[in-house]
Amino acid sequence: MLLNEKILSFYNQLDRSLFMEKNQSLSHEDIPLPIGYGQTISQPSLVLKMTQMLNLFPSARTLEIGTGSGYQTALLAEFSQEVFTIERIPELFYKAENRLKLMGYPNIRFKLDDGSIGWKEFSPFDRILVTAAAKHIPQPLIDQLNSPGLMVLPVGKSDIQQLTIVFKNEKGDVRTESHGAVRFVPLLGRY
Ligand code: SAH
Repeated sequence: MLLNEKILSFYNQLDRSLFMEKNQSLSHEDIPLPIGYGQTISQPSLVLKMTQMLNLFPSARTLEIGTGSGYQTALLAEFSQEVFTIERIPELFYKAENRLKLMGYPNIRFKLDDGSIGWKEFSPFDRILVTAAAKHIPQPLIDQLNSPGLMVLPVGKSDIQQLTIVFKNEKGDVRTESHGAVRFVPLLGRY
């Protein structure tokens, strides 16, 4: 089976209601839903699309900014060797950590902090996924991307963004590619 088919079949059996405390009856609809503290879980088809855009591989070390509910984190953990995930809202952070530990993922490291500065200690990362909208691509995240490496993130103004892929080659040259309009909650923090 191709990687994207494997991701699709895992996605199809991953129950989104496990990552929510309210609106359980809506969890199977392909719509974004609130997870409290002004944050939202993206619509599942977009979570799937971003996971597939990342082009993960079994030995990948993957950084995620914006743990939120942990729904996206579970997909990353299933298809990476190790996932490093950062969330800035304590209430969401502790709930997601608890959930993912109970689900039995041994390969996720959690950090309560501003993710726009990355996680230097464990860099470089083969893959980086940002699940909140950045006005500009945070420089620390570009610096902490491996050569070669790939990052997916929404970039743009608060009302609408472009889903962007950042490619870094073996030499460290960076190029970006836009993949359509999306709408995410803002990335807060230093960068
Ligand atoms: N991937 C999540 C979606 C979360 S919404 C899921 O599947 O549920 C975006 C998340 O990014 C929110 O939880 C928000 O608190 C977090 N966030 C925003 N700015 C951040 C920052 N600078 N560092 C870490 N997390 C941040």
